[in-house]
Amino acid sequence: MSRIAYVNGRYLPLAHASVNIEDRGYQFSDGVYEVCEVRGGRLVDERRHIERLQRSLSELRIAMPMTPESLGAVLHEVVRRNRVRWGIVYLQITRGVARRDHAFPPPGTRPSVVVTARNLDFATAERLAGEGVAVISVPDNRWDRVDIKSVSLLPNVLAKQTAREQGAREAWFVDRQGFVTEGSSSNAWIVTRNGTVVTRQVDNAILKGITRTVVLDIIAAQGLKLDIRPFTMEEAQQAREAFITSASQTVMPVVKIDSRPVGNGAPGLIASALRRDFYRFAEIS
Ligand code: PMP
Repeated sequence: MSRIAYVNGRYLPLAHASVNIEDRGYQFSDGVYEVCEVRGGRLVDERRHIERLQRSLSELRIAMPMTPESLGAVLHEVVRRNRVRWGIVYLQITRGVARRDHAFPPPGTRPSVVVTARNLDFATAERLAGEGVAVISVPDNRWDRVDIKSVSLLPNVLAKQTAREQGAREAWFVDRQGFVTEGSSSNAWIVTRNGTVVTRQVDNAILKGITRTVVLDIIAAQGLKLDIRPFTMEEAQQAREAFITSASQTVMPVVKIDSRPVGNGAPGLIASALRRDFYRFAEIS
């Protein structure tokens, strides 16, 4: 079965799905995206993802190209046409196609909309979660508006590649003060020796993860101790547990940080419980 993409109003086989070479996403990374988990063919936290998309667009002064309802319908349709049961749906909106010029294109330039979806390997993800993953640290060399989910991901790409080359699953960005900001494609968390869950506050220096928001709801509902503050790599290495969160992997236990085992080197109880309870708190549509 060939995969189908949505491109500017049309559903096309992937091989025929393309955008103009003067698309501003291609030339300037002038666009935003969202990744939403698909579970049982349904979307996880669609409403929150579309709300964050609207915020990213408005921060970049790109018009929302269609209503949230129509966009939601397209996401569902792409999932359906690709028969995705468990996987992800990817949505990208750029400022559109125009003669190359850094400043905004003429008013009326239509944003480009692309949606793709694909299955992920459920068994591999479950195995990883059962074993836990390794993370490494890299300097946070990104711009100061990473709260906008822009497609400009070069530092994230390089960080992830460094992680891969060192046999790790994720790279944690560390800021100039020595604090972990977030992962290259996930939010970062630890659990201290006294059982307090710690994650950094949201501001312009991290992305406000949708999974993070849901996990905070679980923590509140279960009355776990929580401290919203930055933490250092040293503190993380001495923590009882660590984990990362993102839409495509929900809660993923971290068992190694810069080659040092976390806690007893196995996935932690709190991380595993948060992973288990996740879908009772997420919105499925
Ligand atoms: N931070 C970054 C840099 C990311 O790319 C992601 C994944 N989109 C996240 C955090 C986690 O966000 P979410 O839980 O919404 O997937």
